[in-house]
Amino acid sequence: MKRTTRLVSFDSTYQDEDAGQPKTINPPIFRGSTVLFNDYEDLTLANSGKHKGITYGTDRLTTQRAFEEAMRKLEGGALTRAFPSGISAIINTFLAFTGSGDHILICDNAYGPTARFCTEILTKYNIQTTFIPSASGKEIESYFQDNTKLIFLESPGSNTFEIQDIPAITTLANNRGIVTVLDNTWATPLYLDPFALGIDISIQSVTKYISGHSDLLMGTVTVNEKWADTLKQFYRTLEIYTPEEDCYTALRGLRTLSLRLQQHEQSALKIAHWLESLPIIDQVIHPALSSHPEHQIWCRDFTGSSGLFAFIFKEDYAQDKLAEFVNSLQLFGIGYSWGGFKSLITAGKYNRSQESRYAGKTVVRLNIGLEDPADLLIDLKSGFELLTK
Ligand SMILES: *Cc1c(COP(=O)(O)O)cnc(C)c1O
Repeated sequence: MKRTTRLVSFDSTYQDEDAGQPKTINPPIFRGSTVLFNDYEDLTLANSGKHKGITYGTDRLTTQRAFEEAMRKLEGGALTRAFPSGISAIINTFLAFTGSGDHILICDNAYGPTARFCTEILTKYNIQTTFIPSASGKEIESYFQDNTKLIFLESPGSNTFEIQDIPAITTLANNRGIVTVLDNTWATPLYLDPFALGIDISIQSVTKYISGHSDLLMGTVTVNEKWADTLKQFYRTLEIYTPEEDCYTALRGLRTLSLRLQQHEQSALKIAHWLESLPIIDQVIHPALSSHPEHQIWCRDFTGSSGLFAFIFKEDYAQDKLAEFVNSLQLFGIGYSWGGFKSLITAGKYNRSQESRYAGKTVVRLNIGLEDPADLLIDLKSGFELLTK
């Protein structure tokens, strides 16, 4: 079955016939800390961990289970668990799959808070981190140590969109029993299939395209068969709670993921190509453009591109000039996060541990939303006129 079909045909119908309830296409939302047992015998079973049903609010209520199952099917993994944010999914993956004395490798262009967690928190637990170049491939082997336990990839990476050679890395890692994790938020499982490329653990910031409406924060971790028990036990022990309302809303968003992504992709490509033709632009950083340094890898591994990309001006404009441009935009909100229906703009310089082709340059990032791209073009065009005035 095609992934697009999986999105809408996943069955989350719900009916308690005994209670005379109607059969609805979508699941109900339960609110509950306490889950009542039928009798004392059930309580006794729950006390000894033998109760078959849901025993408490943190035991993953029905809507959460429905959403996790939908994500698991989309990802083609063995087990999915939901977390209250994307960064929570990431942090808990590190905690679940590493221990004191381990060494981990993380790509230099990983989401900022991901990198910060490694350098500021994992060190407290005697876990050492080495940053590998943003566009790493098989050279990654030279960073391996005897205690290297986990490799964390994000491709294309945050803000600068370098792409890693995932199959080259997973081949080396799998031979050595190193766990591989991919933050696949940019492509979603629709445009990149992590498990087909040898990845063990696939992460989504559901906050972005999966939910798609900038109205919630959530994350998922999906693992292959090999790591299913580890994640299951870890999640159970930590009693992580992901709100039912948000699970419902994310499930609702998921149904239209394919349609939304197609539009984000087309609009972003239209704008990226146009930007590339402008004399004031030095480079457009979009993996689907043939000018992207890892474009060939993108063509090999990805089946589509999403609506987030960046560009660099030829001239290094002063802050007040940049402010004039950004503030003039009518359709682009100024703000973090992305993947929603509204177009957004951010700009910044990104410090990397390793050599970076964008060092010292102001990278302007666009989240192309669901507006008509013709209107977005007009908006950007009048902004650029302020810069060249
Ligand atoms: C936003 C983002 C995250 C974190 O997701 P939150 O839900 O905002 O915590 C992780 N990875 C990437 C690539 C992101 O863009």
